[in-house]
Amino acid sequence: MNWLQRWQTIPLYLRTLIGMALGAVVGLWQGPDAVALAKPGSILMGLVQMLAAPVAFFAIVHALAGAKIEKGKTPQLIRLLVTNTIAAIVIGMAVANFIQPGKRNALVQERAAVKEQAVQLQDTISAVQEKAAEIRLTDSIYQILERLPKTVLGPFTDGNVLGVVVLAILLGLALRRVSPDIHATTTTVKVFMDAFIAILHWVVHLVPFIVLGVVAAEVGKNGFSSFINLLWLVVAVILALSLQFCYYMLRVKLQSWVTPRLLLRHCRDALVMAFSTSSSTATMPVTYECLRNNLKLRKQSANLGALVGANFNNDGTALYESMAALFIAQLLGADLSLAQQLIIVLCAMAASIGAAGIPSSGMLTMTLVLTAVGLPLEYSLLLIPVDWFLDRFRTMINVSGDLCVACVLDGKQPESGHAPE
Ligand code: ASP
Repeated sequence: MNWLQRWQTIPLYLRTLIGMALGAVVGLWQGPDAVALAKPGSILMGLVQMLAAPVAFFAIVHALAGAKIEKGKTPQLIRLLVTNTIAAIVIGMAVANFIQPGKRNALVQERAAVKEQAVQLQDTISAVQEKAAEIRLTDSIYQILERLPKTVLGPFTDGNVLGVVVLAILLGLALRRVSPDIHATTTTVKVFMDAFIAILHWVVHLVPFIVLGVVAAEVGKNGFSSFINLLWLVVAVILALSLQFCYYMLRVKLQSWVTPRLLLRHCRDALVMAFSTSSSTATMPVTYECLRNNLKLRKQSANLGALVGANFNNDGTALYESMAALFIAQLLGADLSLAQQLIIVLCAMAASIGAAGIPSSGMLTMTLVLTAVGLPLEYSLLLIPVDWFLDRFRTMINVSGDLCVACVLDGKQPESGHAPE
């Protein structure tokens, strides 16, 4: 076994931690000279941005074209999915506005800005403000409708997340109608989706090296001070995700026969698996098993929650994306108005529908949200060192959302003769 093979056998999170530690050492040793080491990270973010729109697009087309939705439950399912996602984003934005993780280290930010980035930062702020003025205009339904795609490729080249989602939904619905063999069609779509995901996996394997460069550059330039902001972000995201979990439990308690205690007792395997794999798709069979065999929900509810929900219901990801966008705006000192925050809500909702249930896909769709609101992508590099960690928590919330949807769909009465012990 050569060193590369040996390196590959180490779990990715450990490799990322090694990258972080080495990055800190290199940053301390090289000082400001380490700044150049961030360059590969910017290139990687470009690659991630390139993959974001196609992965979201194929994930939605595949999920919609292949979904087996029984007519009677569709409106209730859509209502549940939309209200849960709005709750997630509102909670995320409220916590981010309250804790203000990006402003926790204002002094250092200011010093760094004055000393080294004055001109560059000023440019970025003006760009954000320009975009902000534009966004204020879009504060009407008409302007939001203007974001609908005008050409088929336009949304992909502009990174227009709403356009990508609309196009994918239309194509998915159309395929259901016109395809003579929907199974063969979804298999073909899945091949494309898997191919893009395979490319993403290659990119993800570079993350430990990128983290090394980003941490070295940051430590070399600003010492450990900017990591204080990052720590606050981690705290804020985990707090917001916990609140979202409480919201699910309350909803289950009020709107279904299942009690939160029963849910946790019978479905903990799904939550543990979500945490350990960072993939709600990989967890899907366990989620279904827990809902159907342990909790004894009706087959249709377990199906809709675990199988359909896993594709469209990514509240943890939506919450993270909106918080990350606000965090970066706070780092830049750009105060976003309520109207601008509304655009983040819309984009995060759209992007979370397209988030595939695989590790790190939230990082991918985050680039779509940042592009949509005109925030610079370079700052999302700062999030890479903690993304793998937060991914585990948001995947757990994505799966909890599926569990909640299934329980509420199952109604106030258990199936007769099927109640769990
Ligand atoms: N890893 C998450 C999931 O599988 C998606 C994300 O990265 O946010 O649900």
